Amino acid sequence: MSPQAASPAATSLPGGISPDTGQPGFGVYLHWPFCAAKCPYCDFNSHVRHAGVDQQAFVRAFEREIATMREMSGPRVVTSMFFGGGTPSLMAPDTVAAILDAVRAAWVVPDGIEITLEANPSSVEATRFRGYREAGVNRVSMGVQALNDTDLRQLGRLHDRAEALKAIGLAREIFPRMSFDLIYARPGQTLEAWEQELEEAIGLAADHLSLYQLTIEEGTPFFGLHKAGKLVVPDGETSADLYELTQRVCESHGLPAYEVSNHARPGAESRHNLTYWRYGDYAGIGPGAHGRLLTAQAKIATATERHPETWLARVAEHGHGMVETSELSAAEQADELLLMGLRLREGIDLKRWSSLSGRTLDPDRTEFLIGHGLIEQTAPDRIRCTPDGMMVLDAVVADLA
Ligand code: SF4
Repeated sequence: MSPQAASPAATSLPGGISPDTGQPGFGVYLHWPFCAAKCPYCDFNSHVRHAGVDQQAFVRAFEREIATMREMSGPRVVTSMFFGGGTPSLMAPDTVAAILDAVRAAWVVPDGIEITLEANPSSVEATRFRGYREAGVNRVSMGVQALNDTDLRQLGRLHDRAEALKAIGLAREIFPRMSFDLIYARPGQTLEAWEQELEEAIGLAADHLSLYQLTIEEGTPFFGLHKAGKLVVPDGETSADLYELTQRVCESHGLPAYEVSNHARPGAESRHNLTYWRYGDYAGIGPGAHGRLLTAQAKIATATERHPETWLARVAEHGHGMVETSELSAAEQADELLLMGLRLREGIDLKRWSSLSGRTLDPDRTEFLIGHGLIEQTAPDRIRCTPDGMMVLDAVVADLA
């Protein structure tokens, strides 16, 4: 059994969240790559299939790829599972149940671990919530994105405000834990409008919110509109003000950011996402999923074929859809640890970073960044980004790495 196979129950905090013990866990990520429609800002691996999807065929392929990942990882104790997408709430509850059974057959899955499913709040999808709960899902993360109809239409979402509010109410009734996403820095959004919307969201969400700034990604319809001057988003200064407002309002309501875009009451953090940011291991299963898997030989980065039907064919032929399996050197792991860990409010453990990289951080660079208020030392062996540092995170990481 691997060193990360300690029972999560032994160190759990209220809400089942483990503190950073240096054993960041083993998550299982399951990617469902289909959506009812493509949102104009989205560059995720999501595909629309108007003719429908043969969910049984995908279940069989998930089962095979899970079995292959199990061969690679050896016996492990799973600390969280996450159905992401795409839109996993387009899956039938039986599909979710069958995939969860396959994970349980492959690895040890303790009772009560966090099992999250991403859902869209359309009324059709909300009718499946009870089925997901019966299948074992205990946390739902909803793509609400805005709480007013004008912005929802502009974002190309298929639900309206009334459906979102209804789905949030239903999720709170059915699932022990829930969260939802909002996008801000939307075209024409004022600080006042965002503050009001955020206050309402905090009242609805209870203990976890994911708040993302709208980014214009190349290859999306929004990119073309933006380039043509037909979609104007807040400038850098306004975006920075919106970010600061977000931190202030969330903190004042007891939901500080535990990661750049994720806010939670202490103990309600997403266990699964913490595994990524604390640089744990995770098996990435399904079309276009990425993983970091500790095998008997090395830590490897995995990536699967993105196109769903091609992935299906590859799994049928090879038992998996992986198109990339590359060994990560210790230096690459140290860089990834820095990149992921500095996203977190808790920061990174310098001893762990040094044991991977075989060196210590350059004291001149560290002092420079501390002097400019971009990072801070919170314990002899721990540093983190300050709020100002979070706003220029990529530059801080590049400087330290
Ligand atoms: S629902 Fe989510 S994954 Fe699907 S297109 Fe919209 S933003 Fe992308």
